[in-house]
Amino acid sequence: MSGLFAGTPLERPVTCPRCGAPLDRCACPRTQAGDILLPKDQPARVRLERRRGKVVTVISGLDPAASDLPGLLKSLRSKFGAGGTVSELGLELQGDHQAKAVHVLQSLGYPAKPAGG
Ligand SMILES: [Zn+2]
Repeated sequence: MSGLFAGTPLERPVTCPRCGAPLDRCACPRTQAGDILLPKDQPARVRLERRRGKVVTVISGLDPAASDLPGLLKSLRSKFGAGGTVSELGLELQGDHQAKAVHVLQSLGYPAKPAGG
């Protein structure tokens, strides 16, 4: 969708409507399309899946760009001492970290809930 506003620069604000900073210095979480998307607007779901006999904690509902999934994964991995990966589902952590992950996500401002079971 890039190029949607090409040729109409006056229709784009030059400062961020949320933090007021010039757009090139704005650090607000944004989607790939450039829309601000705060953690509180990303209802994360944390569920457990069993793969090849092992439990995996799957976190879905996070916007890949706005939530910096690689950065979030790194932080969760070190908090839980677990391996994990970014997948098309969201984040996957090895082992059962459902309750802890819900708690951590909530502390970051996400309306996270456990799902499935
Ligand atoms: Zn901003």
